[in-house]
Formats: sequence, structure tokens, C-alpha cells
Amino acid sequence: MSKTIHDKYPDYAVNIGIEVHAQLTTKSKIFCSCSNEVIKEPNTNICNICAGHPGILPVLNKKVVDHAILAGLAVNCKITQLCSFDRKHYFYPDLPKNYQITQNDYPICTEGHVSIRLEDGSTKKICLIRIHMEEDAGKNIHAPLSNESFVDLNRAGTPLLEIVSHPDITSSYEAKAYLKSLRSIVQYLKICTGNMEEGAFRADTNISIRKKDAQKLGTRCELKNINSFKFIGDAIDYEIERQITVLESGGTIQQETRLWDTKNKKTVVMRTKEEAADYRFFQDPDLPLVEVNEEWISRIKKQLPELPYEKLERFCIQKELTPYEAAILVDDIELANYFEKASQYTESKQLINWMLRDVLSYLKEQKISLIEFKITPQQLAEIVELVDKGIINNRSAQEVFKIVAQTGESPEQVVKNKELEQVGSVEELEKIIKEIITSNPNQVATYKAGNDRLFGFFVGQAMQKTKGKGNPKIIQELLKKHLK
Ligand code: ZN
Ligand code: MN
Repeated sequence: MSKTIHDKYPDYAVNIGIEVHAQLTTKSKIFCSCSNEVIKEPNTNICNICAGHPGILPVLNKKVVDHAILAGLAVNCKITQLCSFDRKHYFYPDLPKNYQITQNDYPICTEGHVSIRLEDGSTKKICLIRIHMEEDAGKNIHAPLSNESFVDLNRAGTPLLEIVSHPDITSSYEAKAYLKSLRSIVQYLKICTGNMEEGAFRADTNISIRKKDAQKLGTRCELKNINSFKFIGDAIDYEIERQITVLESGGTIQQETRLWDTKNKKTVVMRTKEEAADYRFFQDPDLPLVEVNEEWISRIKKQLPELPYEKLERFCIQKELTPYEAAILVDDIELANYFEKASQYTESKQLINWMLRDVLSYLKEQKISLIEFKITPQQLAEIVELVDKGIINNRSAQEVFKIVAQTGESPEQVVKNKELEQVGSVEELEKIIKEIITSNPNQVATYKAGNDRLFGFFVGQAMQKTKGKGNPKIIQELLKKHLK
């Protein structure tokens, strides 16, 4: 529960379990050789198999199993040695076979956990029940104006991993943290784009509440098809309060699927939920059992990249970032890679501030992604160095940043063109300061005799001689050095 809801209803506990569907980025679909790319023209990327014609024989794409094992290993699952595929029956126009091929009894991965970071900086393990492989359905497209509906089967047969958590999650904050962790893991593994808006990473959230002392979980409601972290968080908070209000007023919670109405900021009923038995699961006779031996597992184990939580730890130690700073970078692999590249060109502690303050706010302001961002990691490091070396001051650096972001020009060139260089270099200023000292022997003697207040006089002289463009920090340092 969020703090405010928790304070309002201290007697209630919340349990949230999340089912994530992650579309895999294999070359071909899960049971046929059709391309797994997203193709716009409807029904042009289909064959007898993924369109579900009668009498067809699906053949499992081995890469899908590789990806599933990789995901399982990354989240500490047990890999099932002998797993099977089952038919899950339901009728939907975008599923012409009238059953989905999925894994029910023997999923490829079981148990495991994902660690999340809580608001107080501590970590919590969210335990997983299972990860299984299945096919995606097609898409129904409704045209309300002409009162027509269409079916596009291009997406049918897209390989999915369904990752099912225990109802260990107790607040919208934890739910978002869990989803962010999981999403960055699949992105780091390069098995899923994680794009929520395009539906490549979708979360169904099951929420139930109970009195704190009750052992049994309350009746759950499922939130479906919410495509942003923020909306998921808002919908969970709304739903917790709605359920508590229903119970407090003497009502009961109906098991149902609800949608998030972004306009009115409330959840609305979509349908009352089918029971699991309605699906009439049975093992698919068209697909053989999948035997995963130790050799296969160890081959995949070798492909495991550095995972987000490992990168976070390394950034804290090696790059001396705070866990807070590191977490922001690690959340987004592109951002983490960008920072890592830039840090090869500068050791300045200011780099992280430029990343988290200037780069992120610029991307947000321009509504662009890091890929479209024109400042290369090396150029950002150059800007940071220009400030650190005293060549430009912070205000000019902001200007350089904006220009490079628009034109991609080299920062040094921008500084030259716009004459942004501070007066001046250490050498230039040293010359001026030596002059001031020789032409003011009385003041120097008084200062050296202990009149510290005269220091301001020398600074003033230096600023005058540089027409106000002197770097005050360097001037003060040089004065201290030469007046010793
Ligand atoms: Zn196909
Ligand atoms: Mn599913």
C-alpha cells in the first residue's frame, strides 16, 4: 500500500501478484518459420500454422527455449528437465484454433525471485511461481464509427514468456519496482525490447486485500492492458481503496477483470473472470516433450551478461556512485552504457550530475530517446572537462550543451565560435596576477603582515583587468599561491 492508503486503513493488508507477458525477439515465430518482426500491413505475415488452419503441425523454435532458459537463470529459477506444451481452450476471433499453445503442468522454469529496492533503500525478494513459454494471439481491431471489427493475425504465434509472481507485492511502489527490475533484466538479456506502449512487455496485475490477521487471501481483481508504469501504479492505488471501501460498506469483492480508465482515473469492469477449469487444459499431442539437459543449461549459462543488480554494485564501487544514482542509470541499459562510455573520457565526478540533471531533462523536454540524442558520450565528457579545467564556466557549459545537442558540433568548436572561453587560461591569469602584485607593493606588504581583508582588493583588481570575465576560482587560487 502507498503510505497514505496504509495510514488511512491500518487494518488491511494488500497482496499483489503479477503476470508479465514478454514478447521474445527471436527471428521467427514460436511454431512456424514466419518472421517475428512487427509488420504493419495486416495478415501479410502469416502461414497455415500461425493462422491456425486445421491439420497443421507446429514445430517448436529452439531459440525460444534458449531465451526461456536464459531468463530463468537470470532470475534464479529451477529449469525443468522435461517440460511440455498444453492447449488452453477459449474462443476469441484473434485465436482461430480456439486454443492457445502454452505450458500448464510442466513449465520450463519454476520458483526463482527478483530483487527490488524499496523506498528506504533496503531490498526485498519477490518470489516467482513459474516462467512458461506460449504463443501470442492476433489482434482484434474495432472501428466504432463504421461499427466494424477486423482481425489481424500478424502477431499470432509471436513467442511469449509468461512470468508469474507470488502475491508477495504489497504496494503500488513495489509493483512498479518489480516491473522495472524485471523489464531491465529482459532488456539486459536482449530477449525482449521491453517496449510497453507497443505491448512487447505487458503486465496483468492481480490485487486482493484482506484484514491483517486473516490468513486467507481476499478475492482478487485483475487489472489488464495497462501500458505504463505510472498508470499501473495509479490503478493499483485506486483499486486498493475501491476494494476496501466495498468491504467497509458491507459488500463483497467480485472476481473480475478491470481496465484503467485514464480519463476518469478509475478502474472499470471489463469482464467477470473465467475459472481456470474453463480452459480445459490438456497436453498438446502435436508437440513432443522438451528435454533440457545439463549441457544445454550450461551452454546458456555462459551467455548470461552482467545483470542490472550486478552492474549497480559495480557502478557504486568502481565509479563511486551512490546507489540512488547507479539505480537510475542501471534501470535503462542505454543510459548505463552511455554513462559507461562517457566515463572512459573523463574521471570528473561531475559527469553523473550532467547525466542525471542535464541529459535526462533534455531528453524529457524534447521527448526523444537516447538513440536520437545528438551529444555523443565523448562530447558530453568533453563538456564536463571544459568546465572542470576552468575553460568555460557553468553557464557557458549549458549553452554549449544545448548547441551540441542541436547540431552535433564538437564542444570545443562551439566554445571557439561563440567565444565562450573564460579569461582565461591559468597561464593568462597568472601573468595578470603577477603584474598586480608587482605594481602594488604596499598592499602586498600590508597583506603579508596579516591584513587578510586586502585579499578582496587583489581579487577586485584581477576582475577589473579581465573585464569581469576572469574565472574567480582560478583567480583566488593563483592569488593565494603568489601571496604566500
Ligand atoms: Zn506462421
Ligand atoms: Mn498467458
